[in-house]
Amino acid sequence: MARYTGPVCRLCRREGEKLYLKGYRCYTDKCPIEKKKGPPGQHQLARRKLSEYGIRLRTKQKARRIYGPLERQFRRYVEMASRAKGVTGERLMQILESRLDNVVFRMGFARSRPQARQFVLHGHIEVNGRRVNIPSYLVRPGDRVAVREGSRSMQHFRDLAAGDAEPAMDPPAWVTVDLAALSGEVLRLPARDEIQVPLDESLIVEHYSR
Ligand code: SF4
Repeated sequence: MARYTGPVCRLCRREGEKLYLKGYRCYTDKCPIEKKKGPPGQHQLARRKLSEYGIRLRTKQKARRIYGPLERQFRRYVEMASRAKGVTGERLMQILESRLDNVVFRMGFARSRPQARQFVLHGHIEVNGRRVNIPSYLVRPGDRVAVREGSRSMQHFRDLAAGDAEPAMDPPAWVTVDLAALSGEVLRLPARDEIQVPLDESLIVEHYSR
């Protein structure tokens, strides 16, 4: 299935909660969820209670919308997680958090994951000194992620480095960031309670195990 390119606020309204897909707007009262807009579509009030399958499906869709992978890639992540040691759901969350676009967002170089994805795709990001333009690239503990030298003159990055623009959120404890140098390091993989994402990942694992 192709990547969704329609209005992103619609995705939040469909899930009934903020997924923070738009950057600045998500933190203002212009956010449609703040305005209490309901699900998109004409027959929103006629929606029925979800079945158990529906709840699992919606949880999986929400995870995909937050982190951005297409269905096939998401299924691959679940397979990787189930082959790895430890709790499958927790491992799945760690894999999603290790995506380069997510790490760029977590480090505060982008206002949203879609913006971070764009920065990676356009070649503005390097890992261990080498340009990586694959948003799904999985970073590992010890990897250094930075804005490339040639991209630092972009207004967005200049403002960040000069302290004129606040990052969207404080970086989590599993990364260190030097905003002035526009670089950071992944110290370790995050524990589940360090991942502030409103998802019950066990429902996703169940969805794929049926
Ligand atoms: Fe979602 Fe942000 Fe749009 Fe609000 S402004 S609906 S959080 S994408």
